[in-house]
Amino acid sequence: MSGQSLPSKPLLGQMMERPLLVSTLLEHAETTHATSEIVSRRCEGDIHRYTIKDAASRARKLANLLSRFGVQQGDRVATLAWNGYRHWELYYGVSGFGAVLHTINPRLFAEQLVYIVNHAEDRFIFVDLTFVPLLESIKDQISRVEGFVILCDEDKMPETSLPNALCYETLLANEPDDFVWPEFDERSAASMCYTSGTTGNPKGVLYSHRSTVIHAMASIGEEALGLASTSCFLPVVPMFHVNAWGTPYSAAITGAKQVFPGPGMDGASLWELIDAEQVDLLLGVPTVWLMLLNHMDSIGKKLESVQNVVVGGSAAPLSMIRDFQEKHDAFLIHAWGMTEMSPIGTVNAHSIHMESMPLEERYRLQAKQGRPVYGVEMKIVDDDNRELPRDGEARGRLLVRGPWIISGYYNNDDRSSFIDGWFDTGDVATIDENNYLTIVDRSKDVIKSGGEWISSIDLENAAVGHPELSECCVIAARHEKWSERPVLLATRQEGSQISEADVLRYLEDKVAKWWLPDAIVFVESLPHTATGKLLKVDLRKTYENYLLEKA
Ligand code: ADP
Repeated sequence: MSGQSLPSKPLLGQMMERPLLVSTLLEHAETTHATSEIVSRRCEGDIHRYTIKDAASRARKLANLLSRFGVQQGDRVATLAWNGYRHWELYYGVSGFGAVLHTINPRLFAEQLVYIVNHAEDRFIFVDLTFVPLLESIKDQISRVEGFVILCDEDKMPETSLPNALCYETLLANEPDDFVWPEFDERSAASMCYTSGTTGNPKGVLYSHRSTVIHAMASIGEEALGLASTSCFLPVVPMFHVNAWGTPYSAAITGAKQVFPGPGMDGASLWELIDAEQVDLLLGVPTVWLMLLNHMDSIGKKLESVQNVVVGGSAAPLSMIRDFQEKHDAFLIHAWGMTEMSPIGTVNAHSIHMESMPLEERYRLQAKQGRPVYGVEMKIVDDDNRELPRDGEARGRLLVRGPWIISGYYNNDDRSSFIDGWFDTGDVATIDENNYLTIVDRSKDVIKSGGEWISSIDLENAAVGHPELSECCVIAARHEKWSERPVLLATRQEGSQISEADVLRYLEDKVAKWWLPDAIVFVESLPHTATGKLLKVDLRKTYENYLLEKA
């Protein structure tokens, strides 16, 4: 591991120190990939298409608008918007101007929204039509916001109780497009995103221009997301959470065609866009792909154009890796990261040794979360922060460091996750001899059964492979003898009558005997966090005494 300091004074290199600014990505894109397309499904329902050249011109108009609004460098300007071209313009217009783009996650609870808007001290909020009612419902609690700009044409402007509500298109139409992007310290904040805060208030993560640009450069290659210039990609991962995994920035480097789904995240809408635009690369969380795969099954069609699907945010089940490959000829690239990591940490990309592997062995390898992208260092440690071996067996707390990893939360004194220059991810993991990471669990979700650990993720993934189950969630329930034992909560496919005994029989040859859940509860639906993950905190509260009461 690097990190030792040299004894003598170094001889410095003589290269220029040009600042790595978000605006330089846009300038590069405009001069090099002017005709690259950006296609968006709009809230209005229609499809919009234009080029990077158009987007760059409008980003400059936006910067002029911010200047007229009196926005200063470092001020927070927020967005509450789907993935779409206007949001892309805001990514560049706001950060390029020197202000900080605060992307708000509309799926947060109302009180969390109020908290983050006030905590970030947002001066203006740019909002999609869909989310106007949401802001109206909290407007009295966010009264320090000076104005709301609604992302639509004048004729679509809604009746609204939001104070100082203006129309984006009318405002832009009145601005010149001759703005010169300012130069400033590359360490300045470019954007911010709050964690979805499953416990306590959300915490603000402040990305710098430097970290954003380096992250974008690192994530384009085939060993990462593979956003080649020839690629046409559809990020379902939202621009309102961790910058759609940085893809709006990386796309500017390569000029890849971008297809934005807007509010249409259901299987049918996604398929329509994928087919119409011949998308070859998809990016998103497993829940979305389950919907798409189910839809494709129901219409009996194949995702002909899709070559790769990047899946992260939660573990990709083996059954999903297999389905994409065997039904659609698409390779699932499993990735792991977090809001605090911009977010890319590891990627399980194509590799030469996979090519020659028997399929089942390859699938098992693909189910691992992958290897670190250059720039990310990782290690696992025990309770005393001593490093554990990379043998694929030892399980420990996963620590990371690197130039796009958080060093402290915004306006927050909590230093509990920061250990000697490393960030404690809160994940429990193994790392094998080839540096492949396997996430065992969130440290708070792992089930501690009689001193041994059971991974809730592994159990969920094994169970969800059953064709009659649609979603599975495993939580730790208190147990008199073993301290904790797993309880499986599951939703059944429509019309299924599958029983507890059937599921147990199905699991018998898939997990160790002592991992088998002590109870299986069928539920109508499972709750999710703002980022589409299972909301285990709530479920744990409801079911923590389930086994004691049942006994
Ligand atoms: P939040 O949803 O709270 O904002 P993040 O989006 O930052 O959180 O999620 C980060 C966490 O999600 C990781 O620490 C990890 O537990 C989980 N995660 C992300 N990708 C994967 C993956 N591929 N497999 C398993 N867990 C994952």
